[in-house]
Amino acid sequence: MQPTKERNLSSVLFSYSSENILIDCGEGTQRQMKIAGLKPTRINRILITHWHGDHVLGLGGLIRYLGANEYNNTLYIYGPKGIKDYVKNILNSCVFTDNVKIELIEIKEGLIFENKDFYIESFRLNHTEVCYGFNFIEKDKRRINVKYLAKFGLKTHPLIGELQKGKDIVWQNKKIKSRDATIIAKGKKISFIIDTGFDENIIKSVKEANLIICEATYSDELKEKAMKYKHLTAKQASEIAKKAKAKRLILTHFSQRYPDVKELEKESKKLFKNTTCAKDFMKIIL
Ligand SMILES: [Zn+2]
Ligand SMILES: [Zn+2]
Repeated sequence: MQPTKERNLSSVLFSYSSENILIDCGEGTQRQMKIAGLKPTRINRILITHWHGDHVLGLGGLIRYLGANEYNNTLYIYGPKGIKDYVKNILNSCVFTDNVKIELIEIKEGLIFENKDFYIESFRLNHTEVCYGFNFIEKDKRRINVKYLAKFGLKTHPLIGELQKGKDIVWQNKKIKSRDATIIAKGKKISFIIDTGFDENIIKSVKEANLIICEATYSDELKEKAMKYKHLTAKQASEIAKKAKAKRLILTHFSQRYPDVKELEKESKKLFKNTTCAKDFMKIIL
């Protein structure tokens, strides 16, 4: 909720081909991006989990930067109820001389974005304000089985595209079935759980995720506090990951009372081994 010398406030950048999607935009995000060598002008969407200041106070600075740096895209901002007022207030908080084309989308539970590669769905969390988690779900892909096609002497040919679409073909009088000549590569799933109290419903939403990025504000000693302020303890985060049969867990959003988050990592690892605590500028390739 407060930046420390070691850690900035919450913001995660998700990149997939031409899509650069920022999840939350805590104060100082544009500077963090510069240190990380990322161009803020490449962002095309921003997802807001909820309207608490620690998650959105970087928006004004970022939008101002985009305006001053010839941002020619439309910036799509998705967020819970109240989005129009909150963003309007941010834009009225100082003199913005350069206009940025912004489109605001109020989200509810369900599908919020889809392209040919992946889709994003939101699910309700249990926080003191209306708050959403997000799933980024990659679509399954049909890949060509090169070895199988080599048996037919088929290397590069437009017909291979047909196989990839799932259609059977005839090649030199022989029928080749798409089912045999292609392999289905299962799409990956990344889940974001930022700001919530423990809730069994979350487990269903993040089921079998390849990666869960999850808040762990407190250690389990402060379970009562976590319950009161609707946040998670490291142990609860690991319980979600374990029950959801996720593959990997990254903890984030730590209370400033933990200058060293090793104890949170240790607590989570007891139940879910593949846990890491996030640090600023951490990069993960899935
Ligand atoms: Zn927060
Ligand atoms: Zn919050």
